[in-house]
Amino acid sequence: MNQDLSIASNGNSNVPDAQWKDWKWHLRHSIHHIIPFEKITGITFNQVQRQELEKTLSLFPMSITPYYASLIDTDKPFNDPVFMQCFPSSQELSIESFEMDDPLHEEADSPIPCITHRYPDRVLLLVSNNCAMYCRHCTRKRRVGDTDQGINSELIRQAIGYIRDHSEIRDVLLSGGDPLMLEDHQLEAILIELRTIPHVEIIRIGTRMPVVLPYRITNELTAMLKKYHPLWINTQYNHPRELTKASKKALSKLADAGIPLGNQSVLLAGINDCPSIIKSLSHELVKQRVRPYYLYQCDLSPGLSHFRTPVGKGIEIMECMVGHTSGLCIPTFVIDAPGGGGKIPVMPHYIISWSDHKVILRNYEGLITTYQEPDHYQSRDCDSQCSECINISMDDRSEEKLVGIEKLLSDQYETITISPMDSERLKRRDDECC
Ligand SMILES: *Cc1c(COP(=O)(O)O)cnc(C)c1O
Ligand code: SF4
Repeated sequence: MNQDLSIASNGNSNVPDAQWKDWKWHLRHSIHHIIPFEKITGITFNQVQRQELEKTLSLFPMSITPYYASLIDTDKPFNDPVFMQCFPSSQELSIESFEMDDPLHEEADSPIPCITHRYPDRVLLLVSNNCAMYCRHCTRKRRVGDTDQGINSELIRQAIGYIRDHSEIRDVLLSGGDPLMLEDHQLEAILIELRTIPHVEIIRIGTRMPVVLPYRITNELTAMLKKYHPLWINTQYNHPRELTKASKKALSKLADAGIPLGNQSVLLAGINDCPSIIKSLSHELVKQRVRPYYLYQCDLSPGLSHFRTPVGKGIEIMECMVGHTSGLCIPTFVIDAPGGGGKIPVMPHYIISWSDHKVILRNYEGLITTYQEPDHYQSRDCDSQCSECINISMDDRSEEKLVGIEKLLSDQYETITISPMDSERLKRRDDECC
């Protein structure tokens, strides 16, 4: 720890520019303890507060890059959206009965280490357990910062083997932790391997580096990444304050390398739980060529109760966006299903009613309108051999292959119900039925 590091209330530090713009310098000087944090930022705590904070850190460690610390409003830190995302709160110690270490059941959906295979055609490939900054609201708190818990090159090699053996996987999401914690050459070795697999169509990287350590986005990195297109990056801005000059520069380097950019925000109480904040964040992101992708309901990981909003807050935010601003600025509000099952989109209702030939809809202004449905609609005659229509090999739509409501909507098949396999009601039945 460089004891001399200090950050003035205007965010300027006493560090020479060349070091400040070196991402590895930030990793070496990240703040992990309360006393150095106090020295660097000038924000102080009393003895009781310090003890509570230390207790919190023994459960959930802290790591703040000097860059992200420099964005804290040191005059009014306690309601500051930057401070609240990076600095521990003793409220993290209150664990609710319904919280779960692994609320999304990522482990159950993990056929081998470093892979989460939840959806039919895409997987998460976990390539690092570490992050530059530990978000206090992190879903994977149980893992992030746990550098002993293994991800190593052998496990990654085996995970890539799994992808190679599963030809249904067309989309690989590098995740973690933060994949950009790897050195360029380590990341490149993974991309090279993935690009030898013919069925991997797209690669995505999920990273918070543009937000918490924008100097990670070097010219060398972007020159390397652009060799592995189509490659997409999703990041996580939660508040417009995070779009600093340095951060915008990082985004423009990525966009200039032809990388389509998306943003996944988490809806967080006291940080961004307001339609104006999310709308302004979205407008700023789109100006930087970043498409708002998801807005997440905060999940049920332990110690996050002070960050959670009611689901209705997210619906209200969607209500205030749809129609009011460009469709391009509107993320999909999702709840990641507790117990696994994936992201479920949640929207206000726009269909008010329906008859056999009319749909009644309302728009964002409260206008109620009628859409007359066609009198004569001849559904296409289809034998589910999609390759005849699209002239490329696609999954067919045979009954066994269809999943979920899609299967009920099809007229061709006999299925009239689908049901979870392990309900008490089904267990009571004998196996003569579904
Ligand atoms: C979010 C997620 C994905 C990707 O979902 P998209 O909706 O395609 O962005 C894939 N696998 C897992 C386990 C996920 O949590
Ligand atoms: S960057 Fe992502 S994985 Fe890392 S601490 Fe933040 S939310 Fe968690």
